[in-house]
Amino acid sequence: MGTDDSPQSYTLAEPNPEPSPVPGCAECLAIAVRRRNARSGGDFSGASDANVVLMTHLSEDHQ
Ligand SMILES: [Zn+2]
Repeated sequence: MGTDDSPQSYTLAEPNPEPSPVPGCAECLAIAVRRRNARSGGDFSGASDANVVLMTHLSEDHQ
């Protein structure tokens, strides 16, 4: 006893939060579409690559 390390507050944790496209921005939309197409095609590395591109775009153009 005394070694209870079962995770309790685990259910609401978001494991990998994704950047959201800014409404009205064509470039955000294009990246989001690419991400969705990659994921629906089973290309998860392509999807995470699109996330990196989107995060870079957000920090550079939507500061
Ligand atoms: Zn944008």
